[in-house]
Amino acid sequence: MFKKISYTLGLLLFILFSFLIFRSANLNTFIDSIENRTFDLRQSIIINQGHKKASDDIVIVAIDDATYEYILDNYGEWPLPRDIYANIINYLEKQNPRIIAFDLMFVKSLKSANQADEELIQTFKKYKNLFTSMNFDNQSEELRIPPELPEKLTLNIDNKSKINFNQLTFTNCRTILEGIINSTSNIGIINVSRSDDGILRKMPLVVKYKDKYYPQLALKVGLNYLGEKSTSFEIDKNSEFKISDRKIFLDDDGSAILNWYGPAGTYTYIPMYQLIKAVKGEKTELNYDFSNKIIYFGTTAASLFDIKTVPAGKIYPGVEVQATYVNNIIDNNFIKKVHRGYTIALSILLALLIASVVTRVSSAFAASMISLSTYLVYILIAYYAMKYENLWLEIIYPLIFSIAAFTLAYIVKYLIKSRDFEQQYKLATTDGLTELYNHRYFQEQIRMQVEQAKRYSSNFSLIIIDIDFFKKFNDTFGHQSGDAVLRQVAQTLKKNVRATDIVCRYGGEEMSIILPNTGKDEAFSTAQKICERVASKKFKLTGDKETHVTISLGVATFPFDGDSAPAIIESADKKLYTAKNNGRNQVK
Ligand code: GH3
Ligand code: MG
Ligand code: MG
Repeated sequence: MFKKISYTLGLLLFILFSFLIFRSANLNTFIDSIENRTFDLRQSIIINQGHKKASDDIVIVAIDDATYEYILDNYGEWPLPRDIYANIINYLEKQNPRIIAFDLMFVKSLKSANQADEELIQTFKKYKNLFTSMNFDNQSEELRIPPELPEKLTLNIDNKSKINFNQLTFTNCRTILEGIINSTSNIGIINVSRSDDGILRKMPLVVKYKDKYYPQLALKVGLNYLGEKSTSFEIDKNSEFKISDRKIFLDDDGSAILNWYGPAGTYTYIPMYQLIKAVKGEKTELNYDFSNKIIYFGTTAASLFDIKTVPAGKIYPGVEVQATYVNNIIDNNFIKKVHRGYTIALSILLALLIASVVTRVSSAFAASMISLSTYLVYILIAYYAMKYENLWLEIIYPLIFSIAAFTLAYIVKYLIKSRDFEQQYKLATTDGLTELYNHRYFQEQIRMQVEQAKRYSSNFSLIIIDIDFFKKFNDTFGHQSGDAVLRQVAQTLKKNVRATDIVCRYGGEEMSIILPNTGKDEAFSTAQKICERVASKKFKLTGDKETHVTISLGVATFPFDGDSAPAIIESADKKLYTAKNNGRNQVK
């Protein structure tokens, strides 16, 4: 019964605890931030093992520090005049690259020269495999007039999921050259989404602007790579975005969690100044075959401020984030975060497992080790799930649940144990019939009283009680009635002494009372009182009968009647004998 109540209480506490955790938004954010760190750790271990290989089909043309210096030396300004890009594109197109994409925005700037811009615009008209980027933000409209964007830049998306695009809805567009906007539909956005800790783990698939969906540049590039012609897509009810046989899993805000391949420099890098030199016919060490490659242009120079912190490293250029995104599409390699519902179910399962280990295994050390191993096995499963299945199994919620289950199970186990101990102690020290202390306890206590009285030079008394003519009583009324009387006499004794007095069943129908710190006179009058109470009381027998019973009592006091436990007992016994001989129903 007690066990059942304890277990139920433990379970209720556990449910309450889980409820509190899931309801507390702050706690959730905190737990999520630690969980994100474990994601980074898993990713970096997997990366370090060289498990994932970046695609050879992607090459990055980098505006690196050397290129930036080269540009300032040769053109004296940044941004670079746009005809230079036009020349590079024309140069590369001769090698038949698969795609050329710019993670750079050709914004309309005061410096830009119309003729140079026009050359770039004409280049965009010329090539179908040329992509560039734009960006949305929430700057106030006074600073920028949001343009009307052509329909061809949008994707039709049927959102059947619970994804809420609020966080990825913007009010303004960072305008790029109107000529480019009007000449090509190959424009993607390069907005990013960062976690609270500033680390970039996921990227928007599309963003919303004036109720229309605009695709990520990497998505556009990926769709082109896969030869996907359609511009209508569905986000299904499981938040999955399907492109033919591939899936992009989306988070609650509509972002895709990227799977990282390695630190900065994982992709082949070509410094852009080498291309500029090659275009000009100057001698370069450039020796790379661009045919059939996806060429991504982007800045890697620290001074150009497109450096991100990602799980694969603190210094990671934005253009490599784009490359990773495209690479994930090529490999069908996006991370799928296991739904919170499954996480909760797994956490509870783990908690129950650990709780049952704790309650079943008696050794605390073994129980701790088994619980710890159970959780470690779970972590291993989570690690391999990410390594081989691209699954993000959360590990912090299960950890919290395991610790809670372990602790609660221990508390319940302790409560039950201490209760068992109490019961056993009671069983060992009390007499079953009368519920008085038993003979063993009496012997222990009287010895203790002698020790204490000796040490503090105090006294104590002992009363030994024997029921008169009990043999005859049994013969007359039967053993059952005898037992009933024994119980009632015991109760009468208890009622007429102090709480500190110790009432025991001495043996048979004999009982004893130890009265700590009690002198002879006081003990004698207590005995007298008891003697009278018993004599005047009507005792109930079996079958509604009642009768009177008397007792005889012997009183001995330490140290006057003896200076050891046996001496005191013997003295009280002798006095009891005297009382019997003197006619019974009296105290001696
Ligand atoms: P006296 O006045 O001299 O004490 O006479 P007595 O008959 O009571 O003699 P004694 O104290 O020697 O008797 C012990 C009797 O108590 C024997 C037994 O029948 C009875 N007795 C002992 N233990 C129990 C018990 O647990 N239940 C019952 N019903 N009777 C018991
Ligand atoms: Mg007796
Ligand atoms: Mg007797």
